[in-house]
Amino acid sequence: MTETSMQKVCYIVNSSLLGIVVLMMGFFKVIGADFLVAFSIPTIAVYIIMFVMIYKQLFRAYVWTCYGWITVYMGLTAVFLGEEYGFQLYCFSLIPVVHITEYISFRMNRKGVKALFISVCIAVFYFIFMSYLKVNGAIYDCGGKYALLFWIVNSLSVFGFLVVYAHYIVRSVILSEKKLVELAHKDSLTKLSNRHYMLEKLLVLPENDTRSVLAMADIDDFKKINDTYGHNAGDEVLKMVSSKMQENCKGCEIARWGGEEFLILYTGEQQAFFDMLENMRTAIAENPVVFEGRSISVALTAGVAHRNSGESIDDWIMRVDEKLYIGKNNGKNMIVM
Ligand code: GH3
Ligand code: MG
Ligand code: MG
Repeated sequence: MTETSMQKVCYIVNSSLLGIVVLMMGFFKVIGADFLVAFSIPTIAVYIIMFVMIYKQLFRAYVWTCYGWITVYMGLTAVFLGEEYGFQLYCFSLIPVVHITEYISFRMNRKGVKALFISVCIAVFYFIFMSYLKVNGAIYDCGGKYALLFWIVNSLSVFGFLVVYAHYIVRSVILSEKKLVELAHKDSLTKLSNRHYMLEKLLVLPENDTRSVLAMADIDDFKKINDTYGHNAGDEVLKMVSSKMQENCKGCEIARWGGEEFLILYTGEQQAFFDMLENMRTAIAENPVVFEGRSISVALTAGVAHRNSGESIDDWIMRVDEKLYIGKNNGKNMIVM
């Protein structure tokens, strides 16, 4: 969230609160709650001052004043009118609002409001004014005028807010966890799985599993591509090779193992896997990458091997690597099984 969008949100919140205070002032007048009518005047003045705080981007001061004043306002309203109007319920919805404000401050790299401290203050204040109410009763005796209506409106808005808030928070936590997991598992350039994720996949394979086949593929003369066409062209080649791999290797788990090396895991017949890799190699060799109007020929060599029963992951990868190097030493652009 930027400073300007934060400012906009604060303007909307402050205007809405000011509107509510004016409406409430009218209601206090109707039921003859003179002190609350009088208290509405400094309240309106405070909300006008808060517009200045928002304009000067004094968000921390704004948040403190806003929460402080709302708590006092709700407390006084409850003490003067009585519990049955339901104004005390707003203390509950203020606590999540304080916490979300702390989070927004964190996102904006600003010094956060102390949500825990403010929440405890709100709770303490709630217990103080509610204890006063329980012992002494409401200061005004309005005969419960409009009490039911206010209790319904206040309860609905507090519960409505809490339900929407809790739902939104859990949704966004799930969404951001999904994004983090994806970031932790994917290579940012090629969007393939990364080395760490592939290792996790390999380590959970049963040791006696001989149906898994592994291929190590390496782009031929990639250094020359970088040197001739530049690093950006090299990156484009990596992306193209990765997408050709995904297109041609169905049912494979493909990971970027290192710079221009890819590890491919397949479960099934070695011959079927070999055929897919051959198609992949041909598709890459026959479709030069076009970068800034220049055509770049790309080729790939790969080694393939089944896992031997009881073989460690390291030994398996080493055997696949040896096959790859047989291909590299015998003219490249080939799959060695
Ligand atoms: P060979 O055919 O034997 O595999 O030779 P090669 O040139 O492909 O292999 P070599 O190991 O000599 O060079 C690999 C190059 O890959 C060196 C390194 O700068 C480059 N490289 C590694 N990661 C990236 C990357 O993310 N982007 C680009 N553009 N280049 C990379
Ligand atoms: Mg290479
Ligand atoms: Mg290499």
